[in-house]
Amino acid sequence: MVKWKCENTTLVQPSESETSQTTCAVCINNIIKTKSTRNRLSIRVDERTSPMRFLGHRPLQLDELVTASTPNRLGNLTDSQRKATKAFLDMIEDQSEDALLQRLGRRDTHDVKEWEMERLMILLSQIFFQITPWDRMEVFFRFEDATDDPHVLGTCSAPDRHGKFHDDKVTVRMSPCTVKSIPGFRHLNGRTMSRLSTLVHELVHAYINMYACISCLSYQEDVDQLDGHGRVWQRIARRVEWFVEYVLHLPLRLGRFTAIVNNLENLKVWPTEKEAKWWYLK
Ligand SMILES: [Zn+2]
Ligand SMILES: [Zn+2]
Repeated sequence: MVKWKCENTTLVQPSESETSQTTCAVCINNIIKTKSTRNRLSIRVDERTSPMRFLGHRPLQLDELVTASTPNRLGNLTDSQRKATKAFLDMIEDQSEDALLQRLGRRDTHDVKEWEMERLMILLSQIFFQITPWDRMEVFFRFEDATDDPHVLGTCSAPDRHGKFHDDKVTVRMSPCTVKSIPGFRHLNGRTMSRLSTLVHELVHAYINMYACISCLSYQEDVDQLDGHGRVWQRIARRVEWFVEYVLHLPLRLGRFTAIVNNLENLKVWPTEKEAKWWYLK
């Protein structure tokens, strides 16, 4: 018997079009509108003009939106994105003892308020996703271990098949004490870098869990498999990681490969070779 050939596997390898072309009665009419406008630097940018709909968009459309919202130059951001980006970059540069990112680098997170983390998530959502108040993206934050597994650094609640969230809220939870052992960057220590990486990792989940249509036939493959680290999370996380590193010059690692390895038992459909290369796992 050939051991390496898994004959009872349920894994199948679909074409790209099988998952992306399927229409869905729930979300087909939720069209995202954008307009081309000039920002204050007189650079032409695309700005979204219709609000995001709760559980209302084809999953892969979220990736298309994030790609369009994260250009390769700061000057090509919309005015509100540039404002949020400046606030975040100022936050990074603040080396005072009371600065949020300095407090985030302490051994535990006693000195960081949960509302400060919620504000930080709003700021980052404005930068990566062009989120505005009319999108009603409310994500709650808690410093608590969500599981008994000490290796779990953070979690984000996902909708059940009826579209309900545990606690009725999309909630990001982060371990108050456990961090990845990674190097610091400039005046940010390894604990700050680890917690920021975890926060952005969970924020990508929150964005997808908030807006991806759970009725789409592609939902399981594009979102749900690999415990939420399917195609859409991988694509958006890759894009955000790239943007943060090469445009904001902050080398965050979102643990994309580890997320696959740790959740292999929940892999339902292999990505195509082209797709896996696109994820640029390293
Ligand atoms: Zn995750
Ligand atoms: Zn749908």
